[in-house]
Amino acid sequence: MNVIFLGPPGAGKGTIARPVTERHGITAISTGDLLREAVKAGSELGLKAKGYMDAGELVPDDLVIELLKQRIAQPDCAAGCLLDGFPRTIPQAEALESAGVAIDKVVNLQVDDQVIIHRLSGRRIHRQTGRVYNVNPDGAPQPPADMSPDELVQRDDDKPEAIANRLEVYRRQTEPLIAFYRQRNLLVDIDASKSLDAIVEDVLKVL
Ligand code: AMP
Repeated sequence: MNVIFLGPPGAGKGTIARPVTERHGITAISTGDLLREAVKAGSELGLKAKGYMDAGELVPDDLVIELLKQRIAQPDCAAGCLLDGFPRTIPQAEALESAGVAIDKVVNLQVDDQVIIHRLSGRRIHRQTGRVYNVNPDGAPQPPADMSPDELVQRDDDKPEAIANRLEVYRRQTEPLIAFYRQRNLLVDIDASKSLDAIVEDVLKVL
C-alpha cells in the first residue's frame, strides 16, 4: 500500500505517520527529514537545499524528485510507503506517476491557518532523537516531565516569519494537488483540527 499525506505544514503529517506505518507495516518517507539530514551532513544536496528551507521556500523539484526516487527504491519500501511531504508540486506528482509508483490513497489533512500557526509555534524537536513534541499547554505530544527545555530546539522554519511564507507557498504550489488527486478518485478529506488521537483513528478508518 502506498499512501500520500497531503496538508499544510502543521497539519500533523509526521506525527500521524508514526502510528499509521506501525499498523500497516509500511515505511514513512519524509522528504523534509531527508533534506534536514542532508543539511546536517553537509552534503552537496544539503548545501543546495539549506537556503530554501530556512526561508520556508520549496527546494527545486529536480533535487527533491531525485532524492525521493532513490529513497523509494530501497528494500524497506517494498511493502509500501507513506509519503509525508511529497509530492508538494504538480511536477513532483507527475514524476511519481511516470516512475510507476501506484498510489492507493491520498489523505488530505484539512486545518485552518489559525490552528496551524498555533501548533507550529509550539513545535520543538528533541535534539538527540529528532522526536517532535509540542510545548503549548494544549499541544500534543507533550514532552516528558523530566525532559529539560535545553534538550528541545525550534526549527528555523517554525519561526513566525518563515511560517507565514510556508503557508503562502502551500496555497500557491501544493494546494493544486488536491484537485489533481480528486480527479483521480484517490483523495480522502480528514478534519485535522481534532485531537491527535481522533485524527489517527479517522485516518486508520479510511485506510
Ligand atoms: P517539512 O519537514 O515537510 O515541513 O519540510 C521542510 C522543508 O523542506 C520545506 O519547507 C521545504 O523547504 C523542504 N521540502 C520538504 N519536502 C519538499 C518537497 N517535496 N519539495 C520541495 N521542498 C521540500
